Amino acid sequence: MNITENAIRVLEKRYLAKDENGSCIEDPAGMFRRVAKAVAAADKEYVSEEELKEIEQEFYNMMSNLEFLPNSPTLMNAGRPLGQLSACFVLPIEDSMEGIFESIKNAALIHKSGGGTGFSFSRLRPKGASVNSTGGVASGPVSFMKVFNAATEAVKQGGTRRGANMGILRVDHPDIMEFITCKRDNSEITNFNISVGITEEFMNAVENDEEYNLIDPRTGEVAGTLNAKKVFDVIVDMAWNNGEPGIIFLDRLNKDNVTPELGEIESTNPCGEQPLLPYEACNLGSINLSSMVKDIDNSPEVDYDKLKTVVWKAVHFLDNVIDVNKYPLPEIDEMTRGTRKIGLGVMGWADMLCKLNIPYNSQEAVDLAEKVMSFIQSESRKASIKLAEKKGVFPYYDKSIYKDKDIKLRNATTTTIAPTGTLSIIAGVSSGIEPLFAISYIRNVMDNDELIEVNPIFKKIALEEGFYSDDLMKRIAKKGTIKGFSEIPESVQKIFVTAHDITPDWHVKMQAAFQKYTDNAVSKTVNLANQATREDVYDVFWHAYKTNCKGVTIYRDGSRDMQVLNIGKVK
Ligand code: UDP
Repeated sequence: MNITENAIRVLEKRYLAKDENGSCIEDPAGMFRRVAKAVAAADKEYVSEEELKEIEQEFYNMMSNLEFLPNSPTLMNAGRPLGQLSACFVLPIEDSMEGIFESIKNAALIHKSGGGTGFSFSRLRPKGASVNSTGGVASGPVSFMKVFNAATEAVKQGGTRRGANMGILRVDHPDIMEFITCKRDNSEITNFNISVGITEEFMNAVENDEEYNLIDPRTGEVAGTLNAKKVFDVIVDMAWNNGEPGIIFLDRLNKDNVTPELGEIESTNPCGEQPLLPYEACNLGSINLSSMVKDIDNSPEVDYDKLKTVVWKAVHFLDNVIDVNKYPLPEIDEMTRGTRKIGLGVMGWADMLCKLNIPYNSQEAVDLAEKVMSFIQSESRKASIKLAEKKGVFPYYDKSIYKDKDIKLRNATTTTIAPTGTLSIIAGVSSGIEPLFAISYIRNVMDNDELIEVNPIFKKIALEEGFYSDDLMKRIAKKGTIKGFSEIPESVQKIFVTAHDITPDWHVKMQAAFQKYTDNAVSKTVNLANQATREDVYDVFWHAYKTNCKGVTIYRDGSRDMQVLNIGKVK
């Protein structure tokens, strides 16, 4: 198996099954075997024993070849007692003490199993509103977010991984200003990503520099007005300050809600890629695009035949996951089996572009993004229709928009672009649809030894073209880009661009290209240079709005004390 040392380290830490002494009792191949067997088992009642073995082997092959990987909870928990396989959940929060603490308890159960939770706090009465039973006054959504945050912090230690949350508040909630500024200090509410739930009405008011209404969620009555442009400017200012809040276009999420009869979409999962109804969960999986390039006579091209085969198997796999999954709550079981949403996406996009000699920041790359993703979306739907012929449509089909179109799908949605934070490390490729973060970087290993990690595609070319040296790789790591190194050919400099070589508008164009052919949403961070201005942030938000993105998150380099990835810093 072509798995890197780094990947093995990650797997050993959290993914491989261990005995009571904490020693691993399986290797990566054993993990993929365990997962393949557990997920294939969903076909037991449909196929012969021999066919079942074949399905298991197909699943095993596509994972161990690192062509497709399911989200982390599936790798961790399939075929093991916990059995919770989804990464994404959305829970409702009712405007009552019982409702709020019920939701906290449910979130704790989900975090324990490696899932992330999203919540809308919009139904909670505003700060200062009366509490009938006590005669006191309510403390408002932000104060309760802090309670959710503390609960997540406490569960962290015992869980399979750090619990993550998304907190959303509608822009017309009376407490919106407190929400927008609640993470001004980075050490606050650290277990939450926050996003403002933006409405079309609000965006129109921003455009026309008008006032808009704040609505009391309990009565639906107007509770005040604010100037939309001023509110938008504060959102921009906060995002410029440290990346939060993000924005999410609620009306767009609901325009694409395929089961509106079942309710309204008020939130997404923690990283924003999966809008869900209250109590709905979704399991994700990602195709490694870096492994979908074929080389014919030294001319690389996308291997669409192989991609098609993997899409079909991946849809089969993810659909099976719904059946073998053990859900943490009966309500989640009911909703998730009812809509049977799956989220197939991609990773290794930047690597694929490098192999194809296409710069990320080019129209050619944006056009190819549309072509590849529309292919995946269309094939995944065909695969889902085929599954429905055999196993039936999703149970809430009659409450979906598909019944009028007579499109008999097994899954209410099929595509989502996840961040693939860990999956991309396991597969050893660039994450999600993000550009390369660095060409090389220096990792401190034990005994203060320095290890230079070089992008494998770049390393191959550097060796072939004869400009590789450890010294050069170290200098590249310090600079964070290969721009301006005279020993590297111009043609190579053009292709191997990193997140910081790319202007923000290319980030947004790429996100919009993938979104165009994704049922759910796209996880993407628009990276800005440290010197970027508030106006640059404003432009990114506006560009994302105008190009039909479902939300947008920005990050200005160096704007937080704690930053996951650093360029130019030898650590
Ligand atoms: N997630 C989480 N905790 C984490 C990382 C991820 O709960 O520490 C959830 C969250 O819902 C996120 C989703 O998993 O949106 C997908 O994240 P990613 O693709 O990075 O996960 P991977 O499968 O690569 O671990």
